Amino acid sequence: MKFWSNITKTLIPYVPGEQLNETGIIKLNTNENPFPPSPKVIEKIQSCLGAELKKYPDPESTELRDAIADFYEIEKENVFIGNGSDEVLAHIFMAFFKDEKLYFPNITYSFYPVYCGLYEIDYQTIPLNERFEIETKQYLGLDGNIIFPNPNAPTGIGLGLDAIEEVLTNNPGNLVVVDEAYIDFGGDSAVELIGRYKNLIIVQTLSKSRSLAGMRIGFAIGDLQLIEGLIRVKDSFNSYPLDRLAQAAGKASIEDKNYFEYTCDEIIKNRAWTVSQLKMRGIETLPSMANFIFIRVENAEKLYWELKARKILVRYFKKPLIDSYLRISIGTKEEMVKLVKNIDQIMGG
Ligand code: PMP
Repeated sequence: MKFWSNITKTLIPYVPGEQLNETGIIKLNTNENPFPPSPKVIEKIQSCLGAELKKYPDPESTELRDAIADFYEIEKENVFIGNGSDEVLAHIFMAFFKDEKLYFPNITYSFYPVYCGLYEIDYQTIPLNERFEIETKQYLGLDGNIIFPNPNAPTGIGLGLDAIEEVLTNNPGNLVVVDEAYIDFGGDSAVELIGRYKNLIIVQTLSKSRSLAGMRIGFAIGDLQLIEGLIRVKDSFNSYPLDRLAQAAGKASIEDKNYFEYTCDEIIKNRAWTVSQLKMRGIETLPSMANFIFIRVENAEKLYWELKARKILVRYFKKPLIDSYLRISIGTKEEMVKLVKNIDQIMGG
């Protein structure tokens, strides 16, 4: 195409999971939360639907940053807000990764190599071990920056804070970005390490544990100078990444701690139930700390299609090393009961 720049011609864009509009679908393919957002979020959004929408939103998302800072007992100046954590990640790649080599696991969030393509970043992947774990020993003393999710995606396997600290202390000149999109489902957040490590950035999202994928709210937490770097990039790209509704919804969501804890606990319980049911049927599941499980089956692609025919949508990655696995988001108990019942019907005959 004549008008495409050279970089546009080379891009291999990220492909998100399907968003089907049919009714009656059990949607377990994009790690959304099966519970609605907190009722306080809905109330708050409704109260914002008025004349104020004619005005631009706060470019600094001050109240939302304050709410996140209160939640984690840090300072507002350590918090950066973006339009979904994907945008936060994009700004991190632009602000910090452009001039050096970047390391990430060979099986991980598939947006990382896409951003490397967009920003022309040289990267190298580090293989998971045979149990599909991130082997932190391979991340010590590297000659470039590092990013990995904790828990990792799509495996769901989490790392302890001691392992993360080992990576941080052994890479004093490199930035270590921990993508905590799924941290609230049983993992330990590295936010408590922020004061001690100036080479750490944590990225989180309200899309998963707070049921707000449709609003697009993500944030980063890090040392003051790192946050300033991100703000420079944001203000050179889009001064208003979050609209008024998203800022208000995000604040209400962060403040409703009880609802957050209740829904996370339910998902953790449903995950344990699903894993035990699958285990009884001889289906291997990687140990998950996320709101999804990664299961190994004989013919994963066939099972994906058979479940889809029965209106249950899961995620299949037709990629080397993981093509005999399915990633299944944890839904409500009712949805997981239906999943198991359908797997029985498919596998039984
Ligand atoms: N990081 C990881 C590891 C993810 O799986 C996702 C969800 N696709 C994201 C970040 C981005 O989430 P969002 O943009 O909805 O905040």
